Amino acid sequence: MIGNIKGLMVTLRTMLRSPVTAQYPEMDKRTVLAKRFMGFPALLWDYSVDEPYCTGCMVCIRDCPTQCMSATMQDNLLHTEGKSKRRKIVESFEINLGRCILCGICVDVCNFDAIEMSHEHELSKYKRDGNRVDLPALLDMGKQFQRKIGWQPTQAKNVGATELVDNGAKGVPE
Ligand code: SF4
Ligand code: SF4
Repeated sequence: MIGNIKGLMVTLRTMLRSPVTAQYPEMDKRTVLAKRFMGFPALLWDYSVDEPYCTGCMVCIRDCPTQCMSATMQDNLLHTEGKSKRRKIVESFEINLGRCILCGICVDVCNFDAIEMSHEHELSKYKRDGNRVDLPALLDMGKQFQRKIGWQPTQAKNVGATELVDNGAKGVPE
């Protein structure tokens, strides 16, 4: 008898409890991602000079275990004009996110604070090569991530501005 009552109490408690599960894909019913969540890699934007942090140095590309990245670099015009400390800047960048294993090695080896594991994680596509992401798209992902977590570079030397401006030491403008 007591066992039955205990069982009934558990049922009643469960009935009155609010759901602990998320309802995909409804935006307002999803679980909140932790700040340290590691989604797909994205390139970051330097608001102090309005250019990418990435110099196209190829270090991450050489170290990527699945060889899913490619990039080219070019001379930086803003450096010639004396506005940016970066002599070279990325010209093109592509990651085939369909082959990325989210290992984070590209982030670990980048010495320029140019790439981060963003919160992007939904990449269902109808095309086989639908997840090849180019430079503008990678930068958009990065800007979204920067705004969301209030990102700041880990090394002040990586900020591109030659003069210290208000938002020069920050990842996102005020
Ligand atoms: S993300 Fe970093 S390591 Fe990769 S090419 Fe750009 S600057 Fe170099
Ligand atoms: S997270 Fe790993 S697999 Fe994905 S692009 Fe970076 S190094 Fe390559």
